[in-house]
Amino acid sequence: MSKQKPLGSGTMSVWAGEENNLWWGATQVPVVHSVSFGYPDVDAWQDVALGRAPGHIYGRNTNPTVAAFEEKVRLLEGADAATSFATGMAAISNILFTLLSPGDRVVSVKDTYGGTNKLFLEFLPRFHIKVELCNTTNHEAIEAEIAKGCRVLYMESPTNPTLKVMDIARLAKAAHKVGALVVADNTFATPINQNPLALGVDLVLHSATKFLGGHADALGGVVCGSKELVHQVYHHREITGAALDPMAAYLLLRGMKTLQLRVARQNESALKIAQFLESQPSVTQVFYPGLSSHPQHEIARQQMRGFGGVLSFMLKGGFDAVRAFLPRLRHAHLAANLGAVETIAGPPATTSHVECTPEERAAMGIPEGLIRYSVGIEDVDDLIADLKQALG
Ligand SMILES: *Cc1c(COP(=O)(O)O)cnc(C)c1O
Repeated sequence: MSKQKPLGSGTMSVWAGEENNLWWGATQVPVVHSVSFGYPDVDAWQDVALGRAPGHIYGRNTNPTVAAFEEKVRLLEGADAATSFATGMAAISNILFTLLSPGDRVVSVKDTYGGTNKLFLEFLPRFHIKVELCNTTNHEAIEAEIAKGCRVLYMESPTNPTLKVMDIARLAKAAHKVGALVVADNTFATPINQNPLALGVDLVLHSATKFLGGHADALGGVVCGSKELVHQVYHHREITGAALDPMAAYLLLRGMKTLQLRVARQNESALKIAQFLESQPSVTQVFYPGLSSHPQHEIARQQMRGFGGVLSFMLKGGFDAVRAFLPRLRHAHLAANLGAVETIAGPPATTSHVECTPEERAAMGIPEGLIRYSVGIEDVDDLIADLKQALG
């Protein structure tokens, strides 16, 4: 039997997950605003309730619009199953509270997203879960902590906001050796640039709020992996209740049709902008995995197909220089978001790590003079000219 060539990510972005959800010849998935789903008799109802027949029962569990969104992400990540959440943080907390029990140990890194870091330092310890946060780029130290035994290895690569890169395959292998489950936040890379499941992780998650939706108009989260693991996480979510709203699912689905197109453009523009910034005397450091000067550039090249649309940089003059520079940008929202069609810029103190104190940010290795710059789909020449005048 000849094997069919797998579809490209551009084709999947457009078509995946849609075909079984087009009613009455509609060419677009409808927003099904219905809390519950009715049946003609108890037997038909029970078949769906017990999973013997496809269908939906109640909106906190499943919904057709939401299911189409999950299916699109599932196919792009090459997973067996996917389930969704109201936000990215709901995805992360549901995963961690599904997999971890009192007495368990979780190994992660200092550089995770600010909200994730809060889960590790504030919430999990209250349930007597031991958390070990390692230096993100010291793979030997991470492996040594894993070797002491753990239930979960939690990774994020590239990291927010300093764009550090973890060797996903290497660390997943070390974790599996001690019987741990491996989770990776793939928000920054997107499934267009990186597929952590193919690198050996057990669960991959996204804040769909960012690149997947891409239009900064809907919050959402999603996790993909094996049927068994995803079902466990789904069960935790259907009971605790952070379900994705059908309207948000519709906006995310619609945004995802251009995912490949947007990310390809953002990859290209971000590299050009990073190279431009690196040549500027008023910029002291640029963080972007696509630069050959990036300490983990070789790892990034091996595990990523593109380096993503986010970069960060430091200005001579620290936070005062940042404060003066940001309002001079004409083609960037100063806002706490990333991954949208518009360019967005801000310091970690008011964006990714607003939840953390200056001391905590310092401990995580996040300098106060840093600017995170999420490249939109504008013409790159305009963005570079804008940066040039703002640095001026
Ligand atoms: C934004 C973000 C999250 C949290 O997602 P929300 O949708 O805001 O809850 C998690 N991880 C990363 C890397 C993010 O950038």
